[in-house]
Amino acid sequence: MLKQVQHDETNKMDKLLFTPGPLTTSKTVKEAMLHDYGSRDTKFVNIVKEVRENLLQLGGVSKEKGYETVIIQGSGTFGIEATISSSVPRNGHLLIVINGAYGHRMANICSVHGIKYTSLVFAENEIPTIEKTEAALKSDNSITHLAIVHSETTTGIFNPIKEFGALAGNYNKTYIVDAMSSFGAVPVYIAEFNIDFLVSSSNKCIEGVPGFSFIIAKREKLLQCKGQARSLVLDIFAQWEALENDGQFRFTPPTQSLAAFHQALKELETEGGVEARANRYKENYQTLISGMRKLGFKEYLEPEKQGYIITSFLYPSADFNFKEFYNSLNDKGFVIYPGKLTQADCFRIGNIGRLYKKDVEGLLEAIESVLK
Ligand SMILES: *Cc1c(COP(=O)(O)O)cnc(C)c1O
Repeated sequence: MLKQVQHDETNKMDKLLFTPGPLTTSKTVKEAMLHDYGSRDTKFVNIVKEVRENLLQLGGVSKEKGYETVIIQGSGTFGIEATISSSVPRNGHLLIVINGAYGHRMANICSVHGIKYTSLVFAENEIPTIEKTEAALKSDNSITHLAIVHSETTTGIFNPIKEFGALAGNYNKTYIVDAMSSFGAVPVYIAEFNIDFLVSSSNKCIEGVPGFSFIIAKREKLLQCKGQARSLVLDIFAQWEALENDGQFRFTPPTQSLAAFHQALKELETEGGVEARANRYKENYQTLISGMRKLGFKEYLEPEKQGYIITSFLYPSADFNFKEFYNSLNDKGFVIYPGKLTQADCFRIGNIGRLYKKDVEGLLEAIESVLK
């Protein structure tokens, strides 16, 4: 059974965030930020060291196995941009498997940097297929890299990153995974999945606050990034080298955000690790969809494609006023999220962050009363 944790005072004061991030965090995570650390302070340097080691463990890898962690200031997109613009060489070519807005964002990054790319676009309610991706790899042998999003936050669909990793391995392509809204709550075995670069951020399933993204990279691939970056601040090799040399960031680190994340990682472990967190989010998800169905809402995705991170719901009628719905829920202390789909009118409700079944039940009651 899941431990039901009483919400603390700050969480009673703040609205609950049923969004893809920033998320509701625990009081103790927020309290970890009540310190001023100098960036060279031994305490802070140790926090960074432990965070980097801990992230490798979460991905089932280690330095001994040949993996490294790089932390990049900024939100998740900074980490994606840093990875793509540092890892794809001048004569490289990235194949991007797309079934949502975050896949398109990777294409956008390539076009800004003048990186050669091919978009392989699937419908937003469709799981990309190995067959079509394999055909794309076969049809152009200039392709060097393959990228995909794990949990496409646009809809909440889960993509089979293990199978795509095997494909990348068979064709000897460098494999990049955007695991932003899954890492920490969906088991990912970086070595077994053949992932060369996994990117996630501080304010998603690990339940820290915004401030940085992190990259878990196969060392051999990371070393190949040397001298390849198209940006000074987003150079993942240079950033890694500095962290390795003296534990220092090249530019001002987000000290409070790292302290909060350090605490969030401890709380993930206390909860029982990735599996326990997955179970809490799954319980939130089940509570949400059964309650929403009772209220007459329908999910956008077929249930077997739907992950347990975030769910897109169709507008219940053509004259549904989302703005009013959103504002009324907001007044009751519940923050939901607009849709991002190109094909259908939807809104989204996230299950992640320091939220429990009873919080979802609270949200459902609020929705019921708003509908009336
Ligand atoms: C949150 C998220 C990102 C990063 O978005 P930011 O706004 O930069 O934090 C990237 N990919 C996915 C799938 C995400 O859910």
